[in-house]
Amino acid sequence: MRLILLGAPGAGKGTQAEVICNTLNIPAISTGNILREAKANKTPLGLEAASYMDSGKLVPDEVVINILKERLKEDDCKNGFILDGFPRTVPQAEALDQMGVEIDRVVDLEVPDEKIMARLSGRRVCEKCGSSYHVLYKPTKVEGVCDRCGGKTVQRKDDAPETIRERLEVYHAQTEPLKDYYKKTGKLVVVEGQEEVADTTALTLKAVEA
Ligand code: AMP
Repeated sequence: MRLILLGAPGAGKGTQAEVICNTLNIPAISTGNILREAKANKTPLGLEAASYMDSGKLVPDEVVINILKERLKEDDCKNGFILDGFPRTVPQAEALDQMGVEIDRVVDLEVPDEKIMARLSGRRVCEKCGSSYHVLYKPTKVEGVCDRCGGKTVQRKDDAPETIRERLEVYHAQTEPLKDYYKKTGKLVVVEGQEEVADTTALTLKAVEA
């Protein structure tokens, strides 16, 4: 099964990708995570991407397309994968088509902008393992300490309110047109994000397995 998760930043793509990954036993590929790792390791790619990421802009298409091309060559992608955060522009979707990648389903997670603002401004992530929390909706047991690995939880630089607004603008202008792109292929399924993560998960799995 080859899946794409579409949706605004903070719509819950990462959480849903993890559930599908565990349920279907296929890797979840997040270009955001790959770029954050490169940035943390100060590789040439990370240094190039950092200024775009920190200001809420998209990293240039050719850079992320190359990352994805290389990642899809790895063995664990043979039986399928979930793309979380790619494609984010029409040229990226076209590049995926040109690579000969046949997508089975595109799940579009819909969450209104006001909710995204509330979710992202309270989000905290573990520096070490990347686990995601929320100061109100999913707090860690001990403040600032990851439940899973004991690492330090911090606010992502791009989760600052003014950067969230920029990311949402970028999403509406550059990523949202992908809904039409995939609607035309008949592969788009819309899932409305629910108050409870478990309810969204049930809808996502239904959309994927239908
Ligand atoms: P994410 O964790 O998916 O929200 O990604 C964090 C940041 O990484 C984004 O705001 C972009 O700057 C960059 N990024 C991740 N995936 C892509 C992509 N497919 N195209 C361009 N930039 C990306």
